[in-house]
Amino acid sequence: MKRRSFIKSLSLSIACPLIAQDGPSRQERIETLTAPQNPNIALNHLGFLPKSKKPVLFRLPDIAPPAEFLLSDMAEPEPNTPPFKLAGPLKAVDCDFGPCLAGDFSGLERPGMYQITIGDLLSVPFFIRHDLWKRTLPEAFKYYYQQRCGVAVPNVHPVCHLDDGRRRDNGAHIDVTGGWHDAGDLRKWMSTALHSGMAIMRMGRNLGDTWNQNGSGLKPILEEIRWGNRYWLKMQDSNGQIWADCAGGINGDNSDNHWTGNIIGTKDDRYINTKIIGSIQAEFVLVQAMIAQLFKDVDPGYAQKCLAAGLRCRAATTPGTKSTHDITWWLLAALELYRATNLKQWADEAAGLGQNLAALQVQEFAGNQKLIRGFWKESPTNKAPLTNAVYSALPAIALLELAGHLPAHPSAASWRTAVQLHLEEYVVPLCARNAFRIIPYGVYYGSPTKDTYRPLAGELTYRYFLPVRKEFW
Ligand SMILES: [Zn+2]
Repeated sequence: MKRRSFIKSLSLSIACPLIAQDGPSRQERIETLTAPQNPNIALNHLGFLPKSKKPVLFRLPDIAPPAEFLLSDMAEPEPNTPPFKLAGPLKAVDCDFGPCLAGDFSGLERPGMYQITIGDLLSVPFFIRHDLWKRTLPEAFKYYYQQRCGVAVPNVHPVCHLDDGRRRDNGAHIDVTGGWHDAGDLRKWMSTALHSGMAIMRMGRNLGDTWNQNGSGLKPILEEIRWGNRYWLKMQDSNGQIWADCAGGINGDNSDNHWTGNIIGTKDDRYINTKIIGSIQAEFVLVQAMIAQLFKDVDPGYAQKCLAAGLRCRAATTPGTKSTHDITWWLLAALELYRATNLKQWADEAAGLGQNLAALQVQEFAGNQKLIRGFWKESPTNKAPLTNAVYSALPAIALLELAGHLPAHPSAASWRTAVQLHLEEYVVPLCARNAFRIIPYGVYYGSPTKDTYRPLAGELTYRYFLPVRKEFW
């Protein structure tokens, strides 16, 4: 499903009203809701877990600032019971995105569906409930089925791309059908697809049979992973190495983002990029080791086959140690190999890479300031703070995983301390610069591109959006 139609398909009940409180009935309101362009009341549309922090924000328009918010239960009250209401103060807070008031109703833990009124404006209706995110996760998971490539997906597209693909270097046809389309486009990047595999498997690993409340168990997860892996396994060269993409576009462009005639050997066949990228090797090893664990009991033969493919890739590659990015991925890959095989050599490799990664954290106050520290350098030879649209949090995640699985290792305490420093002295102070607690894209020394950089402290600057004048795009 395309993003826009997904958003349109969301229940009307979470659309945002901007109407007077004592106007039409609740039912009439729900039926006629349309979201205002710039709602003044901001809160988490998904809702809140009972024990979580519960902030509400009010972006100040040109009116006298209201002093309080009023929260009401949307359910009809029991007979002879007054409707549930709760009022709280609004206080001015600092925010990079303009003047803002903040209220807090963290003390309210009673499950229900609520709405907040500030002045004559209403918030979106929202839930407080224990199963909040569990209701939403399966909806996100369904997206992968819609994205399947190489097969007809009912109500989405007829059978597609049976002619994927031909090698860029010598034009030879190789069957790399299967996998998922990238997003709103039809390309098949290995890296992003492998991330999806990790996400789906982590959901199954962390939640087990309860990931979906419909009683399906893990079966849909296993099926979707098998579908993704049809493509990933085909992208392994005979020497064990993993190619970068199919249909990624031959000159960094969008030229292969198209439907094809499904006939092999015709002009519209898409290209396989046989380039070998280090981090993709690590991601492939990691994913095959996760699959080996996930299928160990339900299909031991498949589990063994996938582990062997991962080990073949590992044997064909030397883990990269030249960038924080590569070290992090190889650490995670070694850790999953350890979990899949229980062999000490992989625990040792993961721990060694953990030492390398912890050493790349900037633990002192750099750049003539005393405000933040605990970010990572790009590499042992490049002191620029690590920034990445996808992977900025990965070093901390990797060290947490490592400390969690090797808790008795002599360095485990230093891995935990590194993550704590990163959270308390980097993530928290940066998030505090806006009322929405959004983590900026990253910090920089000065202005490395022609983009606008916000001053932070000393020589450090920061941006919320990635630099757009860095490359040709
Ligand atoms: Zn397709």
